[in-house]
Amino acid sequence: MKDLLSDKEVSTVISLLEEIYPFANCELNHRSPFQLLIAVVLSAQTTDIRVNEVTEELFRQYPDLDAMLELDEERLSVIIRKIGMYRTKSKNVMALCRKLKNDFGGNIPETFAELVTLPGVGRKTANVVLSNAFGQQAIAVDTHVFRVSNRIGIVSGSDPLKTELALMQRLPKEKWTAMHHMLIWHGRRQCFARNPQCASCGINDFCMMFRKAAVK
Ligand code: SF4
Repeated sequence: MKDLLSDKEVSTVISLLEEIYPFANCELNHRSPFQLLIAVVLSAQTTDIRVNEVTEELFRQYPDLDAMLELDEERLSVIIRKIGMYRTKSKNVMALCRKLKNDFGGNIPETFAELVTLPGVGRKTANVVLSNAFGQQAIAVDTHVFRVSNRIGIVSGSDPLKTELALMQRLPKEKWTAMHHMLIWHGRRQCFARNPQCASCGINDFCMMFRKAAVK
C-alpha cells in the first residue's frame, strides 16, 4: 500500500476538516502581536491551557513591551513558575523584550528572518506569529501537526522541518494557516498521541494509518 494520499484525497481531507472544525483558531489567549509572541515563546513543551493560566495574570499586570521591561528575570519567573522550563523562558522573554526595544524600535518584526533572531524564537514561533498576528500564510509544525499530518499521509516527514517543507509543497498556500490550526485541533480532540479515536474520526476514510490498520 502506498504511503501518501493523492492530491485529490488531500483536497478531500482539507474540506472535511473545514466542516469538522469551522472555527479552528489559535488557542493561546492574546490581545496584540506582542502578547501572542510572548505566549508562543512560553508555550514550548507546555499546554496552551497552562500558558493561558499564567498569561492571564502576566498580561493583566504587564500588557505591553514597555510594561514588561519593568520586570526582571527573577520577578517574571515567579509569575510564570507553573509552566515547564520557567527559568529559561524568563531569561529568553526578558532578552527578547530588550532586543525588541533596542533593535526593532519596540515593534514586532514582520519577517521570518527577523523573528528568528529573537531569543527563544524558532521556526514554529515565527510561523505562528506571522500567520496569527500578521495574516501571512504559514505552517508552524508543532507536535500535533507533525503527528497528525504524517499519520493521515498528507506528508511523510521524519522531523518537523521536513514535515513543514513537505506540507508547503502539498497544501495550497491559501490553506497553510487554516491547516495548521485544523491539524492541531484534530490532534487535541481526536487524533491523540496515545489512543487516537479512529473509529469515530470524520476523516478515517482518507487516513493512511487507518487504512493500514484495516488491512492487517
Ligand atoms: S483515523 Fe485515526 S490516525 Fe487517522 S486521523 Fe483519524 S484519529 Fe488520526
